[in-house]
Amino acid sequence: MSLADKPQLDLEVFLAAIESARHAIFVTNSEGLIEYVNPAFVRITGYSEHEALGAKTSLLRSGLMSVEYYQDLWREVLAGNSWSESITNRRKDGELYEAWQIISPIMGETGQPHKFVVIQEDVTERVKTERALAELTQEYDLVFTNTQDAIFLLSVDQESTEAEVVFRFLRLNTTHEELTGFTTRQVRGKTPVEVLGEELGAVVCSNYRRCYDSRQMVIYDEVLDLPAGRRTWRTRLSPVLDAAAGRVVQIIGTARDITLEQQLKSEQQLFFEVSPDLFAILTPDRRFHQASPAWAPLMGWEPSSLIGRPLSEYVHPDDIDSTVDALSGVNESSPLGVFEARLLTRKGEYRWTSWNVKCPRTDGIMYAVARDVEENKRLQAQLIRMSTVDQLTGVSNRGQGTIDLHREAERVQRHGGKLSLIMCDIDHFKQINDNYGHAVGDEALRHTCGVIEKQLRATDFLARWGGEEFVVILPDTDADGAVVFAERLREAVETSRGPNDIALTLSFGVAEYDPEEDPEKGLLSRADRALYEAKEAGRNRVCVAS
Ligand code: GH3
Ligand code: MG
Ligand code: MG
Repeated sequence: MSLADKPQLDLEVFLAAIESARHAIFVTNSEGLIEYVNPAFVRITGYSEHEALGAKTSLLRSGLMSVEYYQDLWREVLAGNSWSESITNRRKDGELYEAWQIISPIMGETGQPHKFVVIQEDVTERVKTERALAELTQEYDLVFTNTQDAIFLLSVDQESTEAEVVFRFLRLNTTHEELTGFTTRQVRGKTPVEVLGEELGAVVCSNYRRCYDSRQMVIYDEVLDLPAGRRTWRTRLSPVLDAAAGRVVQIIGTARDITLEQQLKSEQQLFFEVSPDLFAILTPDRRFHQASPAWAPLMGWEPSSLIGRPLSEYVHPDDIDSTVDALSGVNESSPLGVFEARLLTRKGEYRWTSWNVKCPRTDGIMYAVARDVEENKRLQAQLIRMSTVDQLTGVSNRGQGTIDLHREAERVQRHGGKLSLIMCDIDHFKQINDNYGHAVGDEALRHTCGVIEKQLRATDFLARWGGEEFVVILPDTDADGAVVFAERLREAVETSRGPNDIALTLSFGVAEYDPEEDPEKGLLSRADRALYEAKEAGRNRVCVAS
């Protein structure tokens, strides 16, 4: 249609249209001098009409386009062809802007262009958005390709029916290709059955179907025999919904190879199962969350019967406070908690156990291992008894007596007060052995201890010092008091009836402690000397050290 055929419109109407256009429109003469600009030109370029008119179009040059570019442009438009291309221009304030420009030559009567109409659309924002989108796509691609997780993209066939939904592989990332042994080229457009075979294909499809039906993320673990070998995967399927139809059109699958993790876990479980120690996982409120099989043979508790029960139910009442204290001190930043407690067995007895507890996280879950130390404790107690008690008489032995002596002497040195010591020895004991035999001699020793023990106050200590020689330590007692006490002992033994009705007597040496002296070299040897004096003086008597 030529201009002449167009409906006749007023020139003013055209002008009004141009003046209100969104795009910058300007007209130059054949030398490129600007003769007309519309208001959008002023808005976009920042130059006023006054500044623009008469200026060259180079006013808008950004300096970023090459000289050849402008040469090409001029050659084209001077030849009467229009030119349309994206160009980078510069506004008056120096800011760059991207413009899509169309230059149309207006041919003069000579057949040469005598004017050019230029229309510029400011596409700066659009270009920016496109660039950002391209960068995003590139970043997404980078993540998709380089992530440690295997990623696969599935499409759902449009023709799928409720009865049969057809999934097809679209794309696999590099990790997926490496771990499975499949390539995108091999699987693209194929269904899981085509790629994996009837059986395995059906299995994976049933999971894809769960994601499709629920339209929600689905997570599951699966063991798959793939070209790269048998591996365990933790797979996560995320549906991509078609916004309009609300239908799942694609599924994004990410799969992590947890083969090693699973193997380690099952191996750790083995330790839990075979250890003779009592393993327990405790909740933050100290209830059993898990208990190892060793609880059954050792304590009589089936592990399942412990679950949910508070640990304190099984701790000896005397050990509850220390157990609670120890557990309170265990948190994610503290080292191993270590304590001992007696635990109730199913038979109603208590066994000593030694605990190591760790609380690795802030969730308060505790991992505990308890070892049965009952036998150790028994042996320990036996050892203490054997090393401190005289086997024949059951009173303290010389070792324990020496410890008692030093402790009491130190107490006097520190806090003052009195301390006395009696050393006594059975008279003519050798004769008893000779006349009645060694066994009766032993019995006489036990008898003598029994008589002495009966006279003791709770604070006194008796020890067998040698064969038929005994030491009595008397705290808070001076020499006079000790003499009275020794005399009472002497009488008690003399009037008692020993085995075989044997008349027994003791001789006594008494000494009072001088805090200046060494308890053994001083007090003990002075009592010993006094005892010797008593023997010398005829036996069955008490002598006091000077
Ligand atoms: P003295 O009045 O001077 O103390 O005369 P004694 O006979 O009591 O003293 P002596 O030191 O001559 O003899 C002590 C005897 O005690 C010698 C030893 O055989 C006996 N004896 C030491 N330990 C035991 C023991 O554990 N059991 C028995 N049955 N006899 C013992
Ligand atoms: Mg004797
Ligand atoms: Mg003796």
